[in-house]
Amino acid sequence: MMKRFLVDAPVCELAAWLREKGEPAFRAKQITDWIFGKLTLEPEKMKNLPAGLRKSLAGDFFAPSCRVAERVLSPRDGVVKLRLELHDGESVELVVIPARERVTLCLSTQVGCPVGCRFCASGVNGLVRNLRAGEMLEEFLLGCAEAGRKCDNIVFMGIGEGLLNFDELVKVLETLTAPEKFAMSPRRITVSTSGFVPGILKLAALEKEFTLAVSLHAPDDVTRAKIIPDKLRYPVAEILEAADVYREKSGRLCTLEYTLLEGVNDSPEQAEALGRLAVRHRAKVNLIPYNETSGAYRRPRREVIENFERTVAASGAAVTRRVERGSKSAAACGQLRARAEQKRNDEK
Ligand code: SAH
Ligand code: SF4
Repeated sequence: MMKRFLVDAPVCELAAWLREKGEPAFRAKQITDWIFGKLTLEPEKMKNLPAGLRKSLAGDFFAPSCRVAERVLSPRDGVVKLRLELHDGESVELVVIPARERVTLCLSTQVGCPVGCRFCASGVNGLVRNLRAGEMLEEFLLGCAEAGRKCDNIVFMGIGEGLLNFDELVKVLETLTAPEKFAMSPRRITVSTSGFVPGILKLAALEKEFTLAVSLHAPDDVTRAKIIPDKLRYPVAEILEAADVYREKSGRLCTLEYTLLEGVNDSPEQAEALGRLAVRHRAKVNLIPYNETSGAYRRPRREVIENFERTVAASGAAVTRRVERGSKSAAACGQLRARAEQKRNDEK
């Protein structure tokens, strides 16, 4: 049998495993208290368990399956980026973002990404594999350990297109929000998608209050086609229709993410068109000044970004701009992993 992840082992499975080991049933509650209450996954830290049981837990389960292989702290704002090495040697990234009293975690959902947006470091070599639910939950626990406490918000904006790993992502969302597990509010969890329409509709059908962010990046299909390859790109109109369904089913307003790329999607006309769409679909706009990763794209000049923001706001849409965070060298999603992969290949 494949090794299981302790963090998402169903309680009945844990109970059966304990029976097999000749352990009393109350051990299951002790173990889940460590995981969900004290956010502790490593058996050696579960002090009220007998040493032998701790050992066999560690042997039979992934607890955890990955390790922090690299840690980049940005002293300016306290943002920490972690590169996790998975049990098969692959890497993903996770970012811990403190802001005032709150801590936000940015989690990855896949190793690589099949969408391959042309400005994004995560999709350069396509998809390697999906993350298992247990691996995403371990990201959560490692992020909380780094922050020194349970985090307040989660955004699935790391590496990968979560809606293309739907079943595992939903398991994660359920475990994060189940009252007897991590008991988070669904409103504090944001799923970000490049506009994968079937996934948006499936998420809407759950009728839960998760926050949906749609990476639109362009108000029209011609501009969008310059940024996102054909394979997994849906028409703007269909994406916004799906976002309407999501809003109705979840009762939550969606956010349109818009990564600003100089000379591509940053004109006043595009700002006006974006503003009109946002108003029509009752969506908020979040502008993301591009973090330069490849030679092909540039971040627009500051005045251009400010103008763009003013123009969107003038249309009546609610607009915010992502504050720049993280150290410059590894600020954008996928950059740490891309660098590690490069090194791995060079050494081969
Ligand atoms: N695949 C999902 C979630 C991960 S990407 C999606 O595309 O929404 C999360 C966000 O980071 C997206 O809005 C994406 O456009 C943005 N992003 C990726 N690389 C970036 C970069 N180099 N600079 C600025 N934003 C970037
Ligand atoms: Fe994938 Fe999102 Fe990056 Fe596009 S922006 S390649 S969908 S991770």
